[in-house]
Amino acid sequence: MADTLIKVDLKQSPYDNPLMHNRWHPDIPMAVWVEPGAEFKLETYDWTGGAIKNDDSADDVRDVDLSTVHFLSGPVGVKGAEPGDLLVVDLLDIGARDDSLWGFNGFFSKKNGGGFLTEHYPLAQKSIWDFHGMFTNSRHIPGVNFAGLIHPGLIGCLPDQKMLDAWNAREAELIATDPDRVPGLANPPNGTTAHMGKLQGEAKAKAAAEGARTVPPREHGGNCDIKDLSRGSKVYFPVYVEGAGLSVGDLHFSQGDGEITFCGAIEMAGWVHMKVSLIKGGMAKYGIKNPIFKPSPVTPNYKDYLIFEGISVDESGKQHYLDVTVAYRQACLNAIEYLKKFGYSGAQAYSILGTAPVQGHISGVVDVPNACATLWLPTEIFDFDINPTAAGPVKMLDGSIDMPISQDK
Ligand code: ZN
Repeated sequence: MADTLIKVDLKQSPYDNPLMHNRWHPDIPMAVWVEPGAEFKLETYDWTGGAIKNDDSADDVRDVDLSTVHFLSGPVGVKGAEPGDLLVVDLLDIGARDDSLWGFNGFFSKKNGGGFLTEHYPLAQKSIWDFHGMFTNSRHIPGVNFAGLIHPGLIGCLPDQKMLDAWNAREAELIATDPDRVPGLANPPNGTTAHMGKLQGEAKAKAAAEGARTVPPREHGGNCDIKDLSRGSKVYFPVYVEGAGLSVGDLHFSQGDGEITFCGAIEMAGWVHMKVSLIKGGMAKYGIKNPIFKPSPVTPNYKDYLIFEGISVDESGKQHYLDVTVAYRQACLNAIEYLKKFGYSGAQAYSILGTAPVQGHISGVVDVPNACATLWLPTEIFDFDINPTAAGPVKMLDGSIDMPISQDK
């Protein structure tokens, strides 16, 4: 029997729950303590703490205050964990809550967050996905239905002060190269909306002012958004502080490689059932700087794909040198153009790439000047045949259903 050590009331603000936090800082007190070998459950909010609603308007996506994210459950202190150890986390199971059997996907406005294709889709849009056991579909995107590969977008241990200082210094240096860029190059600390767990008073104010934002993945893992780090996987996290301080949140029912839509995958509130143990001194023993993990024995079994290639020549025809980001963007844009021929709007196709179990591969990085990336679109998730034929594509959708869109204010 695994006790639920952190409970979440979705009707309550996460700011009123001291077992949540939304920044990384070594001074955040442990929410709970467990022994090595313990098996337990944690409940989580969705990453925005309930800001995005199950409705047919994208105004909430447009207006969301991104300085509030991500709301994480934890930190969980593991007795005996010391800097230099590896914290072994078995993700025994992950699920949605009975009182919240839905999730959201969307794109932020370019003026408030943006996304991988924000130059092409600069306005806020949203799709809502309903869960039917292990399957999901969306009333905003007809013709697709697929099995979820549930995973935490965000999981990792607390940094020590030295690592935190390094994060803040290097990200500030990047921001300084183009401080007025929209969206910003990185997100500096923001004490105003920081939730530092049980920390209160002056100690809270000091930590909040320098607490690292949870947006990027870093050495500790964090917001890696790896779809294959799913229920059934085993992760080895570097430990930097006494007790390790493991936190988790940003659960995804499903996600395509790259989480290109940014808001986000299929975002949901839920629970994680896990077990923790330690490898003493494991960081040095195995030469570990970033987490490593073993995948789940259970994954959606889609075997047939249509694979789109992209190279590092951008939309304007400009040549880039071995740039896999440009190449993957071209692969995504190519897949979207293809799906539009079946009647999808560009937004719907973009949302499918962000949510379905789409694979992204770095295919070549040596053939100067072009990197080659591929996007693997599973054909079996569609209600109709999307393969190319001599007869040409059959337009299956009439365009009467689309994702809500919100103009910038
Ligand atoms: Zn997410």
